[in-house]
Amino acid sequence: MPVADYKTYCEMIDRAKAGKFAYPAINVTSLTTANAVLKGLAESKSDGIIQVSTGGGAFASGSSVKDMALGAVSIAEHVHRAAARYPILVALHTDHCQAKNLDKFVIPLIEETERRRAAGRPNLFNSHMFDGSDIPLKENLDIAVKLLERCHKDEIILEIEVGVVGGEEDGVKGESSAKMYTTPADMLETAGRLNTVKGARYLVAATFGNVHGVYKPGRVKLKPTVLRDGQQALEKAHGKEGRFFLVFHGGSGSALEEIHEAIEYGVVKMNIDTDMQYAFTRAVADHMMKNYDGVLMIDGEMGSKKAYDPRSYLTLAEGSMAERVKRAARELKAVGTTLYKA
Ligand SMILES: [Zn+2]
Repeated sequence: MPVADYKTYCEMIDRAKAGKFAYPAINVTSLTTANAVLKGLAESKSDGIIQVSTGGGAFASGSSVKDMALGAVSIAEHVHRAAARYPILVALHTDHCQAKNLDKFVIPLIEETERRRAAGRPNLFNSHMFDGSDIPLKENLDIAVKLLERCHKDEIILEIEVGVVGGEEDGVKGESSAKMYTTPADMLETAGRLNTVKGARYLVAATFGNVHGVYKPGRVKLKPTVLRDGQQALEKAHGKEGRFFLVFHGGSGSALEEIHEAIEYGVVKMNIDTDMQYAFTRAVADHMMKNYDGVLMIDGEMGSKKAYDPRSYLTLAEGSMAERVKRAARELKAVGTTLYKA
């Protein structure tokens, strides 16, 4: 099974919750970055999540086409094929999709899965995120409930966001405000609405001061206890089973203690984008600086084909990003937890 099926994906997140670890969920935008994630996860014997954002999908479709759904399909198709060569399981996920982009991104991707299911083929994506954090909670949940009903029929898990992640991702700026800390009341309201879709599985990105991007230490005030308080309120109202499966956004640059504390409170998926971008580019920069005379044709010289062949530095970038994935798996206590059986 190259990409986890629904039952296995559910088992993955149940095991993470019970075993107090989390899966690295890595944003990819190309074949090379997707391969880097597979390599890093396989070398960690950890399962994980490969995700595509709206901007990543548009990029992957090519700069003249810029079709976010098309690029996401291409990356997912590649992962379905390539992942079969690695001894781990991955789930395919799509990242932040605001209400205004649903018809351009999540809905066509769900339709693609529905076509595949009708033909007896596996789902294209295992889960999708709807990000309604820029609209009032009631409207956010109205849309989420409708989407969850459809996802449930198709054996897709839905991720939603309650609260606001600050900073900037893909040119989308989050506001900094009180909404950066999700309240127990918001969590209870979310459970009350989403639990009406019986048997459906969902993940919640509750915010505790998270910011996309990376900042110098001290700039970001994470309060993981916000998650603890929300989970306690859920447990009081709905029993232990009522606790959410949480997603940690904007985690790049976070202190290890904060990551571990968040896992204690029920984080099962941690999104990592910015740190991966840096790891990838770091290796490219190193190559360019060390091989300056090779990558450029200076003063009538011919440069070095070996140095400017994109495969040379992209292979280094793949390796560097894979190392960063391995570090993420260690920090999230996911090393050696794979459910893969040969
Ligand atoms: Zn995010």
